[in-house]
Amino acid sequence: MDLRGNGRFSGFEGWSVGGAEKSRCGYASAMDGASTGTGAIRIGHGYDLHRLEPIAPEGKGRPFVLGGVRLEHDRGPVGHSDGDALYHAVTDALLGALGMPDIGELFPDDDPRHDGQDSAVFLDEAVRRVRAAGYAVGNVDCTVILERPKVKEIKDRLRANIAERLGVGVERVNVKGKTHEKVDAVGEGRAIEVHVVALLVRAGGGS
Ligand SMILES: [Zn+2]
Repeated sequence: MDLRGNGRFSGFEGWSVGGAEKSRCGYASAMDGASTGTGAIRIGHGYDLHRLEPIAPEGKGRPFVLGGVRLEHDRGPVGHSDGDALYHAVTDALLGALGMPDIGELFPDDDPRHDGQDSAVFLDEAVRRVRAAGYAVGNVDCTVILERPKVKEIKDRLRANIAERLGVGVERVNVKGKTHEKVDAVGEGRAIEVHVVALLVRAGGGS
């Protein structure tokens, strides 16, 4: 059976309603042209990890910035830019959804212009590309894995900052904080890890 022939996609909200057959048709139609950078919806995954070291000059750690929020901590991320793992992972999720090169390819870490760079610049560029491609952010879901400091206390600020950069309401941004149960580098406080999933919807196709 040719699902594409009968598929009719009615927007982001629309494809969760209706019978199974209709949903399958809708999905096939929504993903039409995905390999060529089109389609009504597109999903992207972003992942990032940064080593956490004592703040320079004791170690190589930079002041700890996460999701644009400055954290007071004795360790900070090692990185060429400001090391904001959350902004990096959101950036990669958006670029991934667009089928574009990742953050490391777009902003090489041997480029002196990016030394200590505010990572909001990278995220803003990804958002610009989302809009230029004719998409809007449906929602993003972020998981930050960090032993200390606790993500719980700054979750609302992280959501607000990401939502502001994406130009969407905070209800479209979710941030979850987890620990690594004290095992491995992340659990021992020597690294931070972030996963992000982002859904893009064709602009004007319903939200
Ligand atoms: Zn990074």
